Amino acid sequence: MRFKNKVVIITGSSRGIGKATALAFVREGAKVVITSRNKRECEQAAREVENAGGECIVYACDVSKAKDVNNLVKQTLKAFGRIDILVNNAGVFLVKPIQEMTEKDWDTVLDINLKGPFLLSKAVMPHLKSGSAIVNISSVLGEVGDPRTTAYCASKGGLITFTKALALELAPRNIRVNAIGPGPIKTQMLAEAEKNPQYKKELLEWVPLHRMGEPAEIANAILFLASDDASYITGHCLFVDGGGLAQ
Ligand code: NDP
Repeated sequence: MRFKNKVVIITGSSRGIGKATALAFVREGAKVVITSRNKRECEQAAREVENAGGECIVYACDVSKAKDVNNLVKQTLKAFGRIDILVNNAGVFLVKPIQEMTEKDWDTVLDINLKGPFLLSKAVMPHLKSGSAIVNISSVLGEVGDPRTTAYCASKGGLITFTKALALELAPRNIRVNAIGPGPIKTQMLAEAEKNPQYKKELLEWVPLHRMGEPAEIANAILFLASDDASYITGHCLFVDGGGLAQ
């Protein structure tokens, strides 16, 4: 059990990659905080965690709001008394040509995908001890561009350099900060896009392994970076993309 009694906050853990990550952590002995904006969906995810024998609390909050985030940290400390690992996973995807993108669209994507990890990291930092870890979920689109996703690409590219800068800031305290860059993963985020046969064909052509990834395959990489197995890795973005970026 790599995470016995460790306390892990995973944002956006009501479904998709976040939920798979919560389940993976509890299988390794951790206690987890399930959170997203939708309390009911969080409670459903919490039942799955409990059915797997795990301990968790649910706290619904919006990662783009400082007040929500600070309360999330307070509730976690009240329930478990400590925080060891933060996974900044909550995110939104937006496909829109720049001419159609409104200022509000841009702000929403940047506020959730980039300001959220800043607010969470800032709020947990005073409570993290030597050996703790933060894992930020970026994307292959933080490394390469894609048409009609400028705000998303900017947010995920920003998250990679945020990861590097924060890793340097926290290295003296022996707190590691890394990122994961998933390729296309089977979750609700891509469900709409997947319904378009041409888009799906292009997605699969981009991936040398010629399939979409499973949320659990991202969870495995997150657990690795959060664990002592990665004790000499910080400021790194690990792309888990079926080989997509190798081309
Ligand atoms: P999902 O849409 O399945 O899950 C996203 C999660 O984030 C949900 O729990 C959602 O809940 C939560 N969330 C969204 N906005 C907020 C907010 N403002 N405050 C709190 N929670 C929020 O997507 P994935 O599981 O696929 O995505 C997880 C991460 O992985 C994201 O950062 C995404 O960008 C990244 N990623 C995903 C890829 C993929 O192909 N699926 C590829 C590359 C990266 P709710 O909306 O109810 O609040």
